[in-house]
Amino acid sequence: MTSRNERREVLRDIREAILSMIPLEAKVTRIEFEGPEIAIYTENPGAVLEDEELVRRLAKTIKKRIVIRADPKVRMDKQSAEEIIKEVVPKDAEITNITFDDVTGEVIIEAKKPGFVIGRGGATLRKILLKTLWRPQVMRTPPLRSKTAEWMLGLLYYESEKRQRFLHETGKRIHRSVISKENYVRIIALGGFKEVGRSAILLQTRESNILLDCGIKPSGTMRDEMPYFDVPEFNIDDLDAVIITHAHLDHCGSLPYLFKFGYEGPVYTTMPTRDLMALLLKDYIDVALKEGKRVPYTMREVKEALLHTITLDYGEVTDIAPDVRLTFHYAGHILGSAIAHLHIGNGLCNVTYTGDFKFGRTKLLESASCVFPRLEVLIMESTYGGRGDIMPRREETERRFLGIVKETLERGGKVLIPVLSVGRGQEIMLVLEEGIRQGVIPPVPIYIDGMVSEATALHTAYPEHLAKSIKEMMFRDQNPFLQEYFKQVTDPNMRKGIIEGGPCIIMATSGMLTGGPSVEYLEMLAEDSKSTLIFVSYQIEGTLGRRLLDMSRSNNREITIPLLKRGGKADYLTVNMHIESVEGFSGHSDRRQLFSFIKSVRPRPEKIILCHGERSKVEDLAISISRLFRIPTISPENLEVIRAR
Ligand SMILES: [Zn+2]
Repeated sequence: MTSRNERREVLRDIREAILSMIPLEAKVTRIEFEGPEIAIYTENPGAVLEDEELVRRLAKTIKKRIVIRADPKVRMDKQSAEEIIKEVVPKDAEITNITFDDVTGEVIIEAKKPGFVIGRGGATLRKILLKTLWRPQVMRTPPLRSKTAEWMLGLLYYESEKRQRFLHETGKRIHRSVISKENYVRIIALGGFKEVGRSAILLQTRESNILLDCGIKPSGTMRDEMPYFDVPEFNIDDLDAVIITHAHLDHCGSLPYLFKFGYEGPVYTTMPTRDLMALLLKDYIDVALKEGKRVPYTMREVKEALLHTITLDYGEVTDIAPDVRLTFHYAGHILGSAIAHLHIGNGLCNVTYTGDFKFGRTKLLESASCVFPRLEVLIMESTYGGRGDIMPRREETERRFLGIVKETLERGGKVLIPVLSVGRGQEIMLVLEEGIRQGVIPPVPIYIDGMVSEATALHTAYPEHLAKSIKEMMFRDQNPFLQEYFKQVTDPNMRKGIIEGGPCIIMATSGMLTGGPSVEYLEMLAEDSKSTLIFVSYQIEGTLGRRLLDMSRSNNREITIPLLKRGGKADYLTVNMHIESVEGFSGHSDRRQLFSFIKSVRPRPEKIILCHGERSKVEDLAISISRLFRIPTISPENLEVIRAR
């Protein structure tokens, strides 16, 4: 434990170093920790900012990230500041909103084209800061309105004071002095080992405790839905940081639970993951309550988790504990997903945790990165690491999918595609858009129903995170998600009209027909022999989707399904519509891609630890990797401890 005095000493040293470098006319009034950054408040920020060399030298000397802020008493009044912003920023930026935050001294500028607010090399931003002495933050106004993004901005704004306090406390904790020179690194499997779900890894050094992911097992029972938080090594008060690799519930679903039990520390993730977490955690609670299921936390804890989230960009090296530096790398799995690289104890050990990743391009995202500054221990997911897990090639998958759509539309039928809201939904939209653009399928209306619309809106808020080709289309004002044939279903009453109308494509959640609008459409379309139901994702055992798929494969039986909302009386519906399943759209690496990742990863790891896969698959994959690449590879059980250094 570090005493208060020791902490103060660290800050005193940093303060002295900074003051000795900054010219007096800058008039520094305060130097404070703000999460992983050091905030320097000055009455004359220009004196520091105009000397770019000085800022670089400062960062290099104290080896911390620095942010220069104007002292509150010199900030310009808001009305004049707003006028100056509108004068300095070109009209093409299309500013939609300007909000001043008195607590942080930031002005949040929302614009449709943030590039114009930033200016070449950040020139316009600097101009705004120097003229108004408010620190500008730019947010993209998504072309599709996102309720989640708006809610998130509101939450951060109204809780600004609380968040500032949290950032100060976090900063003190990160920059506390290191007690011992001798260090060790232990990796403790808390969940998601030899299983899929409840991913959680505790990384423990002599100085600090870092939790990598904090998931739930959505299909789990009360006994096994959460990670093993009750091991003696896990103590919530000693936890320095939680890192969330992406927003799927099996990686972040237990996060609010930590806050319920008193965690007050930071959560590191990317900005899109923060927003998607807000969407998915809220939905998880809503759906569970509707179905009368027990939820281990409420929206209160979800809000707490989001208020304690510190977002990082890919490639941004950040101190998260006195002896741990975190850098996110691109993972290619879903929007915002990241591979976490941890640099521990000044080079003692480098651990890379892939989270879920796709080593191969999709329409929506680029391929995962495989080059790290240093690497000794690789913790890798193995969802599709089994011998049989070789997916068809992407081109083949798309051709087959579009072929089925075309055939259905030509015979006058409708296509129903149950989709997962985040990731697969948008991927399928892009495949359909290209199919229409290239004339493979006709431009029929494509109805988007359920949470997939909101998730799509969030995708349009972060074009920088998407595949290069999609990003370029968006910047050329040819946003594929904004094609007029994509029609959002905003009112459930629209559904009947859609079914009574002509040939069309319907994309609706949930992806496995476990509830939501996709089931409602299925009931209305089931008897129509001209229409087709296409599955584009894996159907877990026990879901209606899986039952239908299994029945359609054993074709000597008549397919019937129970109707849902029919006043208590059991009633069955005969399914005459075609049922197809198209494999190959997965956001995970298949066995071939996992091998190819290990072949390409630089530098070559000394040891590989496998997680996130069914028992037989991880065990087989570990043997295969050890043999093929001659890298010691293990597949631990939950609760096992592996010493990394
Ligand atoms: Zn995932």
